[in-house]
Amino acid sequence: MNKSIIHELRGIVGSGALFTDPEELSCYSYDATGQIFLPDGVSFPETAEQISAILQLANRHDFPVVPRGAGSGMTGGSLPVKGGLVLVTSRMNRIIEIDPDNMIAIVEPGVITGDLQDELKKHNLMYPPDPASLKFCSIGGNAAECAGGPSAVKYGVTKDYVIGLEAVLPTGEIIQTGVRTEKSVVGYDLTRLFIGSEGTLGIFTKLTLRLLPLPESKTTFLLTFTSLPEATEMVSKILAAGIIPCTLEYMDKTAISIVRSHTPDLLPDTTSALIILEIDGTESQVQHQQQKVVKFLNDRGTAYRYTEDDDERSELWQARRSISPASFNLKPNKISEDVVVPRTKIPDLVRFCEKTANDLDLAILTFGHAGDGNIHVNIMVDITNEVELTNGRMAKKLLFEFVVALGGSLSGEHGIGITKSEFLPVEIDRTALEVMKKIKNLFDPNNILNPGKIFPET
Ligand SMILES: Cc1cc2nc3c(=O)[nH]c(=O)nc-3n(C[C@H](O)[C@H](O)[C@H](O)COP(=O)(O)OP(=O)(O)OC[C@H]3O[C@@H](n4cnc5c(N)ncnc54)[C@H](O)[C@@H]3O)c2cc1C
Repeated sequence: MNKSIIHELRGIVGSGALFTDPEELSCYSYDATGQIFLPDGVSFPETAEQISAILQLANRHDFPVVPRGAGSGMTGGSLPVKGGLVLVTSRMNRIIEIDPDNMIAIVEPGVITGDLQDELKKHNLMYPPDPASLKFCSIGGNAAECAGGPSAVKYGVTKDYVIGLEAVLPTGEIIQTGVRTEKSVVGYDLTRLFIGSEGTLGIFTKLTLRLLPLPESKTTFLLTFTSLPEATEMVSKILAAGIIPCTLEYMDKTAISIVRSHTPDLLPDTTSALIILEIDGTESQVQHQQQKVVKFLNDRGTAYRYTEDDDERSELWQARRSISPASFNLKPNKISEDVVVPRTKIPDLVRFCEKTANDLDLAILTFGHAGDGNIHVNIMVDITNEVELTNGRMAKKLLFEFVVALGGSLSGEHGIGITKSEFLPVEIDRTALEVMKKIKNLFDPNNILNPGKIFPET
């Protein structure tokens, strides 16, 4: 990007919203992958019209534009791998409307997910998707990655809640998709196409979200096990017994050990694996489900305790959400995967991970959203150790092949970005891949928006 382009960009967003000094650039050069790519400029637009003008300029002068929310992505989606302009949405952070009667909200993309959830509680409403990063990630980033979280087992993921969008196309046109009603079958569902498109098809500038009533009550069970396969075999049995958890998470021994200090009373050091099971609903629904869970666990002799205490529960969740950052206590780097398998195959997956860790002399910890089969596999490595890095990469390749052979998927919520793009053909057949590339080309003929993402480089 030369001086005259920078000058034009300043004219669009104002000089207080366009930076090219090295300090600013480096702040927007990385995400949760730890990889670094310096952009040529960083801008903070405040309107869809400004974004439209930026994209038109980018098409005229052929420079990449990379949308960025909070930069918490795990797959490099917001990294300017080919340079260009990083477009940060943090100044577009207004909750425009909360309509309690129709149970919808309209928000700008830079709203922090947890802030929206806190605001909705005041109206007795909830927006269910709850990624562990909710205190710092943005709704726009969530929509671009189709983020999920522990509540997905009962409530689904971001695509189930974004019912309409305002988006700026890579060529600069501003379009509206979707509705603010519960139903609509008018034309193709462009909203769904945008959700999970990883910032490659358009930049979201407004999102219409479906809301639910805030559940009255919640109970949290903590189940402890003497072995990991025993814990993971329990998952599909719980669901088959007609129990409807709003959370069904598991942690292996290593995951427990790295966050035990957060809540030593709840996480005893004698346990080899644990499951967090939560039920929510009206008081009577919770009571009914609670009795069902207690009977189910007693019949099987499973060790458990439960709590309805909010402080204890938030301690436990603080511990659970800290697993990812705390894993760096084991090794300085990690290959972080979020594969999905059919629930009944989780025991096969954890056995595979244990065996691979043994065979390749690696530390691999697993935890995550057992209820929907979305397992976080963290392969811990020190990238300065060549053997370990090679073995880590080998483990990742074997993992993806194994998961697809089990009928699973490479990613449940983190997307493909740059870290998995070379493996896309392991899951997606050639024809489907060609269709996806044609869609990208239709939206973005000059490959301006977030180039180098999702598709394997040929
Ligand atoms: C500790 C930790 C825990 C996490 N836990 C979870 C979890 O439980 N579940 C989960 O799903 N994820 C999780 N993540 C990953 C991450 O937080 C999510 O992917 C999140 O949705 C990214 O939001 P962001 O605002 O940080 O987006 P960014 O990282 O800034 O961007 C992510 C992608 O979205 C695109 N994008 C951003 N804004 C827009 C926009 N307005 N329009 C179009 N495209 C846009 C970017 O180009 C990029 O491709 C976790 C991350 C961390 C660090």
